[in-house]
Amino acid sequence: MFEVKNIEDTDLSNNPVIAQMSKYNHEQLLFCNDNETGLKAIIAVHNTVLGPALGGTRMWSYKNEMEALNDVLRLSRGMTYKNSISGLNLGGGKAVIIGDSRTMKSEALFRRFGKFVNSLAGKYITAEDVGISPVDMTWVSKETNHVVGLPGKSGDPSPVTAHGTYVGMKACAKEQFGTDELSGKKVAVQGVGHVGEYLVDALAKEGAEVFISDIHEPTLKRVADTYDAKVVGLDEIYDLDIDIYAPCALGSTVNDETLKRLKCSIIAGAANNQLQNESIHGREVMKKGIVYAPDFALNAGGVINCYSEVKSLSAQWAMDKADEIYTTIQNIVKRSSSENIPTYEIANKMAEERINAISKDKLPL
Ligand code: NAD
Repeated sequence: MFEVKNIEDTDLSNNPVIAQMSKYNHEQLLFCNDNETGLKAIIAVHNTVLGPALGGTRMWSYKNEMEALNDVLRLSRGMTYKNSISGLNLGGGKAVIIGDSRTMKSEALFRRFGKFVNSLAGKYITAEDVGISPVDMTWVSKETNHVVGLPGKSGDPSPVTAHGTYVGMKACAKEQFGTDELSGKKVAVQGVGHVGEYLVDALAKEGAEVFISDIHEPTLKRVADTYDAKVVGLDEIYDLDIDIYAPCALGSTVNDETLKRLKCSIIAGAANNQLQNESIHGREVMKKGIVYAPDFALNAGGVINCYSEVKSLSAQWAMDKADEIYTTIQNIVKRSSSENIPTYEIANKMAEERINAISKDKLPL
């Protein structure tokens, strides 16, 4: 039921939202509220120079609204960079739904959210993210066509993400070892879920020696048995004598503590936000002579898969596009070494350069 509450006493004079938007030049924010379903959401459109803003919807029990706002601003900006460096004609956006994904979900809530997505008329295209299932997205799709990753469409993005991660890892090996052959190389894969398992499969097929860790014992055992991988402890993974560390579970695993212990030459995995602090740990990995494949460039297979659905392209097209991650990572690593700048900074620059070049000819939507 629509109800007007008394807002006379609300002081909006110190509202910091537009200040926050202007810090990283976000184009648009849409605050969504529906008392009947309990929907409280924020949709952020960061940049649409390259095309409509695509990025998933996350459902999370944020401590407060500012935490949700910070997250959606950060994540939507990240999507602009990911889509740009991957050569896609997409801008960056993201949505967050504030609430407990175990208790607050309903068809009505997601359909209401779908109406808000639809009100942006295609400027924002949504997809699944943390806390959201394909069923939830099916409800969203009852109210808007601007949704991808639905059951029966482009499907699970994990094989494409794993493929991109694998070829990007090979590009790092080429730069670090002079050959992109991974046969005989020791690779530790942290997290053997959707992406991790496909990655282990590719590595095992090539003859790499694979070490795996996971908090879910049954998955760990099944993957170890299927691919003849060696199980290591959750913490032990940071002390192994290995060539490549592939984080495929959590963010922030490259930090002060683990950098003292990691003995690898390459960090290349699918997990998002691997560097706990980009500027500190991005520099630190470089100082240690480790080649770090920037996560948002390496794990772009997922968004490539979504793009194939937006443009009605084939699954083979998505795999072929993910192959290009090899060249992208190679260019990043080469430029990082010639300009003596950490790889993550080079990746950001390359993403910005593409947007700036295009924005000279085309105004934002
Ligand atoms: P997933 O949930 O299927 O797999 C993650 C696995 O990590 C699970 O098996 C989980 O048990 C395990 N895990 C959790 N904590 C761990 C710990 N401390 N140590 C070891 N293992 C642990 O997720 P996914 O889809 O495979 O994605 C993996 C990562 O890649 C995530 O960070 C995700 O954001 C990122 N990513 C995924 C895709 C995709 O296409 N699925 C795309 C881009 C980025």
